[in-house]
Amino acid sequence: MDEPLIFEKSADKRKGVSIAKSDVPEISPQDVISKEFLRDDIKGFPEVSEIDTARHWTRLSQWNFGVDSGFYPLGSCTMKYNPKINEDVARLAGFSKAHPYQSDELSQGALQLMYELEGFLCEISGMDAVTLQPAAGAHGELCGMLMIAQYFEEKGKPRKKVIIPDTAHGTNPASSHLAGFSVVPVKEENGGVITPSAVASVMDEDTAALMLTNPNTLGLFEKHIKEIANIVHKKGGFIYCDGANLNALMGIAKLGDMGVDVIQFNLHKTFSTPHGGGGPGSGPVGVKKALEPYLPKPRIIKKGKRFSFDYQRPKSIGKLRAFYGNFGIMLRAYCYIKIMGADGLKKASEMAVLNANYIKEKLKGHYHLPYDQTCMHECVFSDKFQAEKDVHTLDIAKRLMDYGFHPPTIYFPLIVSGAIMTEPTETETKETLDNFIDAMIQIAKEARENPDIVKNAPHTTRVSRLDEARAARNPVLRWKG
Ligand SMILES: *Cc1c(COP(=O)(O)O)cnc(C)c1O
Repeated sequence: MDEPLIFEKSADKRKGVSIAKSDVPEISPQDVISKEFLRDDIKGFPEVSEIDTARHWTRLSQWNFGVDSGFYPLGSCTMKYNPKINEDVARLAGFSKAHPYQSDELSQGALQLMYELEGFLCEISGMDAVTLQPAAGAHGELCGMLMIAQYFEEKGKPRKKVIIPDTAHGTNPASSHLAGFSVVPVKEENGGVITPSAVASVMDEDTAALMLTNPNTLGLFEKHIKEIANIVHKKGGFIYCDGANLNALMGIAKLGDMGVDVIQFNLHKTFSTPHGGGGPGSGPVGVKKALEPYLPKPRIIKKGKRFSFDYQRPKSIGKLRAFYGNFGIMLRAYCYIKIMGADGLKKASEMAVLNANYIKEKLKGHYHLPYDQTCMHECVFSDKFQAEKDVHTLDIAKRLMDYGFHPPTIYFPLIVSGAIMTEPTETETKETLDNFIDAMIQIAKEARENPDIVKNAPHTTRVSRLDEARAARNPVLRWKG
């Protein structure tokens, strides 16, 4: 069952295809292409038959785990099932073959779609304007923070600080720092959320914004958000909300109604699109009126029935990305929103929240639940009970693979020691959730009665426990044949 490298399958002069003898004179590349553009023979280039090539890549793909192969409850990642109709739509030639330099006149359909998608996202979030340009969630955060920085610069009063709760996503302080701010942390208080008094004690007129993740990384709703927004606004600051996990809120509540001034969406999470492995993504940013002039250019505008790109945006932070963003992801999100409709989106959020609470209630008692309250789209356990037998979060995650599940997010959020963060999403059936719950309960039992089986897991996968750091520290990227 092993699969060697494709280089190792190579046999001298073996060909992928056999073609009938040509009845016209052969021309070698040297006859038509000048020498400087030709490379020498590639040493060690694999010579493999077509079927061996197909089998090689097919087998490798089967060793991967994806949302199409099983339950993938990775917290904070929203690994929901992506309807295949989105893939069909994204491959329609009129869209997939459109050239980014095609004139506005010849791109009316694509422009209309982007324009309407911006409108949908405004409606869902309660914002006044949206840009689709950022290529991922963190890129959207950077976009938002750059706009805020520019706003204060324009006013001739640059501000230097951003307040960030310790329940925020790790990308939040990174994006703020990249945009030139220094970060002032605030701690969640025993309920797992930040309090108005904690914010009031650090908010001042040198603080540009408070950047929070809502629902936060504990899977809890920041319930004081409106009061906190008032405190920040009174001192002239903005509220940035990391809306990557809108899966809990869409169709139910609008962050724009809660005082949020800037928000990024992760189309590749909330609005379905296959993701993982670093892309592709799309991180649109929504703003309230005050920040609209700073949005990246070009903006899509509509005059009469005609759509076009507007580059005349003197206050814009400029371009963030080549062309107009990851259009293929926008198509999928547009299709998803259209098919679901307003009621469908609301139902999806309700189911995502219900499923997370179902798992939380069923596993409570078997695993330590540090914040025992109703959660949003994800719940966070810890390994506290199992640690007594020297079984830790990593062991539990590895053992889950033996039961056929992708492990949840582990050791995040950082404020929970040995965190196990589970996000089931709305797309899973009750039977799948029950199977997962049974496996988790079984592992808790094993940890008590036979800890070694958990500590040495996985046992049924192609390779057992790997050195997780070595591939990153000593990457072998080149075949030395
Ligand atoms: C995933 C996520 C991000 C980062 O999004 P990317 O698209 O991976 O850059 C930021 N914040 C939260 C809360 C997230 O879940």
